[in-house]
Amino acid sequence: MSNPSTHVHDAIVVGAGFGGMGAAIQLKRNGYDDLVILERESDLGGTWHVNRYPGLAVDIPSSTYSYSFEPNPHWTRLFAPGSELKAYAAHVADTYGLRELMRFDTVVESATWDDDAQVWQVDVADGEPFRARFLLTATGFLSQPRLPDIAGIESFTGAVVHTTRWNDEVELSGKRVGIIGTGATAVQLIPELADVAADLTVFQRTPIWVTAKPDLPVPALVRKVFSALPLTQRAVRLGGTALLEALMVSAVLHYDQVPLVNAAAERLARLHLRQVKDPDTRARLTPDYTFGCKRPTFSNTYYPTFNREHVHLETHSIGHVDAHGIVTADGSRTDLDVLVLATGFDLWEANFPALRIVGRGGRDLGQWWRERRFQAYEGVAVPGFPNLVSLNSPYSYSGLSYFTTIESQMRHMDRLLTELRRRRATSFEVSESANAEFLDDMTARVGHSIFTLGSCAGANSYYFNQHGEATLLRPTSTRHAFRAARTFPLSDYDFGGLPRTEQEATLQDAD
Ligand code: NAP
Repeated sequence: MSNPSTHVHDAIVVGAGFGGMGAAIQLKRNGYDDLVILERESDLGGTWHVNRYPGLAVDIPSSTYSYSFEPNPHWTRLFAPGSELKAYAAHVADTYGLRELMRFDTVVESATWDDDAQVWQVDVADGEPFRARFLLTATGFLSQPRLPDIAGIESFTGAVVHTTRWNDEVELSGKRVGIIGTGATAVQLIPELADVAADLTVFQRTPIWVTAKPDLPVPALVRKVFSALPLTQRAVRLGGTALLEALMVSAVLHYDQVPLVNAAAERLARLHLRQVKDPDTRARLTPDYTFGCKRPTFSNTYYPTFNREHVHLETHSIGHVDAHGIVTADGSRTDLDVLVLATGFDLWEANFPALRIVGRGGRDLGQWWRERRFQAYEGVAVPGFPNLVSLNSPYSYSGLSYFTTIESQMRHMDRLLTELRRRRATSFEVSESANAEFLDDMTARVGHSIFTLGSCAGANSYYFNQHGEATLLRPTSTRHAFRAARTFPLSDYDFGGLPRTEQEATLQDAD
């Protein structure tokens, strides 16, 4: 086997979640087989490996939340539990020969473009560097857990568990449990905690809009039909996708034209809230921002949980934590045995990018984004970074199901890599002008969206970056995203580099 520090792979993919696996499948389709997938965790699946808390389930219908080219007829519910997503990830890895490409427990620290050799050097903690012609980062959006900076938290003598590091060994039964956060994760977890804890206190900073979840088991007969006649499941998928698309286009993108959709959704959520019997608790659970400014969620059990005697909603801000519990700003204290942190993820500071990426001429991606605004051409490419496909970039999240994003990006890769091969070039780099034009277009479109025109001030939503700009979601329909991926002007990229044979010679000299 060749020395890992000198061997030049076709591509390095960072991340063995659904995004990284989609990228690897596409690279193989384009004829690149010498791949390595680096993953900091000890197994594949990304989010669906890391998150194992009770109640974990997908909240996009499963027939839609999966690769269109690898339908799974075995989902047991309309909204599958997390364990089925994890099993599906393993199935995809085995079916597409990806598992053998994966190196687990490998933390990528930085990647640096070597302009002379026209390769990326990828440095990992505790190991030899890797080198490759292409670098694809698929590090996810919600992958850097946010540990709250609350005074005294380290002095707490009970157990502290973040939802991404769930520990079944921590005893909850009969215990006094506190949970910080009321995002989509907490909404799934709180009813489960209430079932076992002797006493549960929910520390809420910002309420979340919650509507009913039309969750149903998928009968065995339907699963058999899906298996025997895949077109039937495809039809269900199309229905789910169309509904999500209609919601996205009307409620998020064209809020200027159809704010009634958000108003109707808000009305449904308010009706759902009526399950909370105590008017004061109900009022405190009611958001004061427009439905859609922050990611809403679905649950049939969240609101009724607050009717239970041993469940308390605490909305005073947290002052500090001491050895025995939490003291809120009004001076009252809650003694706890276990503190659950459902505090989400640091998207903008820690995750854009999730590793140090240094491109041509020493351009540092994180620094460049912070100085020049968060931006990426078609959500995948950045000028100054040859042969980099940055899959979790600003404006890359397209549609409401992550698989829409993944598959439109796979199409973009296909067009780009096919052209690279046709020209017998070895490098691609998006032009500054194409990138600037794309950014202008996205900025103008955000102007029509809920993020500009809704009342989003109180939402504390991760859709907005630290400068208050909504630069996460691609503000176009998914049809637009797919069309752009199939038809973007090839002249938006500069193709170049050494002809393949010269490049190999240079590398051999360097070795
Ligand atoms: P999140 O939406 O970011 O929620 C984090 C919660 O913690 C918020 O309520 C936040 O309050 C609170 N918080 C953070 N730091 C705090 C502090 N220092 N003091 C008090 N409260 C604090 O994270 P999440 O619930 O993990 O969900 C993240 C995303 O994961 C979801 O939006 C969704 O996209 C995805 N998800 C999906 C599913 C699924 O079924 N597919 C399930 C779970 C999660 P503020 O709002 O005030 O910041």
